[in-house]
Amino acid sequence: MTLVSRQSSAVTAFVALGSNLGDPPAQIRRALQTLAAMPETRFVRRSSLYRNPPAGYLDQPEFVNAVAEIETRLEPRDLLEQLLAIERAQGRVRDFPNAPRTLDLDILLYGERTVLEPGLTIPHPRMLERAFVLVPLAEIAPDAVVPGGGRIADLLQNVDASGMLKLSDSGLA
Ligand code: ADP
Ligand code: MG
Repeated sequence: MTLVSRQSSAVTAFVALGSNLGDPPAQIRRALQTLAAMPETRFVRRSSLYRNPPAGYLDQPEFVNAVAEIETRLEPRDLLEQLLAIERAQGRVRDFPNAPRTLDLDILLYGERTVLEPGLTIPHPRMLERAFVLVPLAEIAPDAVVPGGGRIADLLQNVDASGMLKLSDSGLA
């Protein structure tokens, strides 16, 4: 049994999912199912899956990204540990920054709380410049607020989403 410290009330949190190796749509769908089975957590909804050109290190396959909304009583640190365990279970190997990956799970928002600890920053520090985060997040939660940043629907105006392609539900573009 995993011991986790829990909050007295559930918090709405958003998790970004990304994959560009090993059948990315299948990796994302599998991760969504595992997310929904985390302790102290209720799965609320997910965005569509989006295909995106790689960012940072460009010589790699394109990514598939999505965002999930959950309600959780896990503390942020416990939520991160759960997500890193799911990454490991799906075969993630950390090579170098922005390297290809079977699965990347990031905590975007945890209620309107700000967390600044070694190894954990919430809101996720790069979310405001990433169309592949803001587009799926705006699809499911346009009114969500980034502490110190504003509404998602407004922040979306600052990014270039032209390279993104929404996948049909079968995962075939
Ligand atoms: P990235 O997601 O930026 O491509 P990684 O997935 O390799 O990079 O993440 C490296 C580390 O980032 C994780 O081990 C984790 O400790 C840290 N980290 C800091 N803030 C967050 C967050 N909000 N969500 C997920 N990981 C985070
Ligand atoms: Mg990550």
